[in-house]
Amino acid sequence: MFVRNKNEFNFIFMKKILTLSTVILLMVYSCKAQNSSKEKKIYKIVKTDSDWRKQLTPLQYYVLREAGTERAFSSDLNKNKAKGTYVCAACKTPLYKSEHKYDSGSGWPSFDRAIKENVELDVDYKIGYKRTELKCNTCGSHLGHSFDDGPEETTGKRDCINGVALEFIPEKK
Ligand SMILES: [Zn+2]
Repeated sequence: MFVRNKNEFNFIFMKKILTLSTVILLMVYSCKAQNSSKEKKIYKIVKTDSDWRKQLTPLQYYVLREAGTERAFSSDLNKNKAKGTYVCAACKTPLYKSEHKYDSGSGWPSFDRAIKENVELDVDYKIGYKRTELKCNTCGSHLGHSFDDGPEETTGKRDCINGVALEFIPEKK
């Protein structure tokens, strides 16, 4: 740095400080923006991980609390055609009705629509591309994903749900 006099030195020094503080401000701001978009939603039912572990089976914990996926064709609910309601296996909130269940052939219980206000839509990029993640709106547990290849004659949506995330309550006769 070639400096002719003290004033010029001060000027360059101030300029550097300004640039540096702008950079810091931008960094702080972008961090904040990231945080706010990832801000954790507060669910009606909140439990600690150890409480969930006590309540759920290891597979249920893996799917519901760690957003895992059960093996295809492993759930008895896959072929269930009985009338009734599918509730969240973690908190028993009604999530799907049997009349909206259909056989997608995917190996997971599939529905063309949820009980709307009880299922939350979120976005995940876990396998490299954008997917609509479905969560229980009451306890935040992971249920599965929603795709646009559902039955055309109804909604066109396929809610692909892990059977282990659901509990079936048969309709009372
Ligand atoms: Zn739930």
